[in-house]
Amino acid sequence: MELLYRSTRGAKEPVTASKAILQGLAEDGGLFVPDSIPKLTCSMEQLAGMTYQETAYEVMKLFLTDYTEEELKYCINSAYDKKFDTDVIAPLAKVEDAYYLELFHGATIAFKDMALSILPYLMTTAAKKNQVKNDIVILTATSGDTGKAALAGFADVPGTKIIVFYPKNGVSPIQEKQMVTQKGDNTFVVGIHGNFDDAQSGVKAIFGNKELAKELDQAGYQFSSANSINIGRLVPQIVYYVYAYAKLLESGEIKDGETINVTVPTGNFGNILAAYYAKQMGIPIGKLICASNDNKVLYDFFRTGEYDRNRPFILTTSPSMDILISSNLERLIYRIAGADASKDQELMKALSEQGKYEITDKMRAQLHDFCGYYASEDETAKKIAKVYGDTGYVLDPHTAVASCAYEKYVADTKDKTKTVIASTASPYKFTRSVMEAIDKEKYGSMSDFDLVDELNKISGVDVPNAIEEIRTAPVRHKTVCDAADMEQTVKTFLGVE
Ligand SMILES: *Cc1c(COP(=O)(O)O)cnc(C)c1O
Repeated sequence: MELLYRSTRGAKEPVTASKAILQGLAEDGGLFVPDSIPKLTCSMEQLAGMTYQETAYEVMKLFLTDYTEEELKYCINSAYDKKFDTDVIAPLAKVEDAYYLELFHGATIAFKDMALSILPYLMTTAAKKNQVKNDIVILTATSGDTGKAALAGFADVPGTKIIVFYPKNGVSPIQEKQMVTQKGDNTFVVGIHGNFDDAQSGVKAIFGNKELAKELDQAGYQFSSANSINIGRLVPQIVYYVYAYAKLLESGEIKDGETINVTVPTGNFGNILAAYYAKQMGIPIGKLICASNDNKVLYDFFRTGEYDRNRPFILTTSPSMDILISSNLERLIYRIAGADASKDQELMKALSEQGKYEITDKMRAQLHDFCGYYASEDETAKKIAKVYGDTGYVLDPHTAVASCAYEKYVADTKDKTKTVIASTASPYKFTRSVMEAIDKEKYGSMSDFDLVDELNKISGVDVPNAIEEIRTAPVRHKTVCDAADMEQTVKTFLGVE
């Protein structure tokens, strides 16, 4: 049976998966959601014996029903290959009393690779299926990790161009270096004077500009998105929660049917929403613990039912979670409103006009799967130092935020359910924050790349390729613009005036 996707704001007829992926954002500004969440069709025992690629096929075939078996397997096998530095793709590390699901073994050492290494294949396949003649221009706002992962995925992919906007002063030095050294004739990287929310709002405004879309169409271009608002990002992320459960079962850490909890360091709410979808598919997940840093909008939301972005934007050592507008939350809002597009519209309008909205008690009652915790900068740094001191395992700051949240959850609830913590970045991506957390006095004055070598010494973990590559790579992208000039910058790049 064909699974169709409709906009959370409900204006238009539902579309196929491939069309939803091509479009990125729905025309009415809403996000595409599947009409229902399919149930897994094979047993847990079968899943336990599968490779990552086989698991991906079992999950994705249920969501992307208009892709043929051949197309889907081609996409999966092209994405999850030697770009990953381990055959298991997403290993689990048992450290103290939790299982860290390491999602950072791909080309750019952040979990964004899990979805962005397959998105270009899903998208170019979708373009072929739908007889699209235009070049696809991927427009992306990044808080640091999406940008590089999308650039790496789309660089030199025929029929595509990619433009990435990042907050000039809001990413780590290594994140910035990774992006501005990006190769590929179809890649453009721009720093903006502003924060991630400014970049994301600017991109959404460009998507919503019908005049511009017409001009581009005449020039042979159409936009799509590589942000997690694209359903083609979300579906591949469900896979690793299914896989993690199956691997815990295979290794005898859990029994078939045993409930696990999941803790996710959260920004745009994509990763944790994928875990929620995995639960709907039939994976026995109990609580979804949503971890925030000092930008704790989601923590407040889960406590009070009010989403309020009217607060200072705080730059932290976990920049990929420095977000006040979590786009994917809209998918959950739509669902708990009973797939009511007009309610969703009303709340999203309030968010854009007043910067806040409040959900009804009836909606709140459906949030019992979720709980929110947050960690301060100090708690995060202490966590990195403590886990390293006790076990030798080095956490990146995002994962450390999740680890703190998990610790607080257990202290509050005494719930000892086995827990998977999504480990979203390699510590090498945030070397300075990590090393200063471990010993500020010793490491505080060293250069970024000296710190890389020190991290290698203390952790015994090989320096990833992604880091070796940028040690000497020349800067290729130097454009910086104001948030207000993003549209003009896009036109200039594309030669559309
Ligand atoms: C993007 C990112 C997050 C946040 O994930 P969302 O899906 O946006 O909630 C957390 N940690 C790291 C390292 C990231 O790159």
